[in-house]
Amino acid sequence: MTSSNLQRVTVLGATGSIGRSTLDVVARHPERYRLHAVTAHRSREALFEICQRFVPAQAVIGREEDAIWLRDRLRDAGLGRIEVRSGAEALVEVSRASEVDVVMAAIVGAAGLLPTLAAVEAGKRVLLANKEALVMSGGLFMAAVERHGATLLPIDSEHNAIYQCLPSQHRGGLERQGVSRLLLTASGGPFRGWSMADLEAVTPAQACAHPNWSMGQKISVDSATLMNKGLELIEACWLFDASPGQIEVVVHPQSIVHSMVGYSDGSVIAQMGNPDMRTPIAYGLAWPARIDAGVEPLDLFARARLDFEAPDERGFPCLRLAREAMKAGGTAPASLNAANEVAVQAFLESRLSFLGIARLVEATLEAIDVQPAASLDVILCEDTRARRTAEALLQQRSF
Ligand code: NAD
Ligand code: MG
Repeated sequence: MTSSNLQRVTVLGATGSIGRSTLDVVARHPERYRLHAVTAHRSREALFEICQRFVPAQAVIGREEDAIWLRDRLRDAGLGRIEVRSGAEALVEVSRASEVDVVMAAIVGAAGLLPTLAAVEAGKRVLLANKEALVMSGGLFMAAVERHGATLLPIDSEHNAIYQCLPSQHRGGLERQGVSRLLLTASGGPFRGWSMADLEAVTPAQACAHPNWSMGQKISVDSATLMNKGLELIEACWLFDASPGQIEVVVHPQSIVHSMVGYSDGSVIAQMGNPDMRTPIAYGLAWPARIDAGVEPLDLFARARLDFEAPDERGFPCLRLAREAMKAGGTAPASLNAANEVAVQAFLESRLSFLGIARLVEATLEAIDVQPAASLDVILCEDTRARRTAEALLQQRSF
């Protein structure tokens, strides 16, 4: 590959689980990828180490006091040429900068929406890990992808799997492609099969220890409540122009089949691999080519068996709540996402029980009405309203 083919990459959320896996794949292919910018919220030490190792053109951190610290450290290390900035506007700028070809959207939660949308509006190749952005603003987001000619590649392992199993030109409706359903696999999380009494007593440490995947805290809790699968159902509706009824959730505890596409002739195409996010990340970086991701080859003999079962929607009502929010449409998914972010944070701070997460989300959605998702302003306004409502409910009564 010649230097003119060098891809310049911005990694939003570089210090997180997806961010680090992205840096690992990028480091394996220095002839293909160069970092333009890396960003972090609070982890200044980690961002400093990344800057030392990769020498990007820019680094962005949440607070100016951390930016001052980082500038000093980089200057002392002889890396004063790395431009350090702080704040939300800087995130947007490193996402849409003209030098950038690829943006990895790996900030967690609603905070990822504006920079991810900025990358879309600048027509970049956008590798979408930040599912919350699409859950909040799916209609506007997908319209912006179309309008600005961005290339959107799903990094969430299930959606990446479905993308790989669909015909290469899957625009224009699933039925026209002969697709009868999308089979979204779920590991079932660490509490699959637990009784309601046991679920009531789950601690944050237990919820953050996922059996198959090593992930950030928020998505680990979402995986344990199955809200992650609910958010993914909404994500799949937008990405693949599907209705909630066309998506079936299948619990598959081994996380080897990452998802499947069922066709009208009875064929079911699955994408398999070890549970390692470097596979979908490498796919997104190199698409339509394939590159080494550093992932161990799948040893089917060692794995021996693959199991599939239906999800338990009684112990894990978040899946139903997400499906209902998608059916309600408008700002309902944004409100669901916002209420869930508040609930997960409260659970991590031991202010809410594990089963209380779903109860608080449901009570929040009952307390606020659904608006048409007419603009980004409306969506952000409803996001704020849902957060305030969830916090107020949490003060008023126990869940
Ligand atoms: P993480 O918590 O490990 O990392 C989050 C990153 O975002 C960090 O770099 C952090 O500094 C940054 N960040 C956090 N809050 C921020 C804010 N307010 N403003 C700016 N930056 C902020 O999370 P993760 O597990 O890497 O997940 C990232 C995203 O990818 C999430 O949306 C998650 O749902 C999605 N995802 C993750 C996995 C996984 O295996 N970890 C799989 C599929 C999808
Ligand atoms: Mg996933």
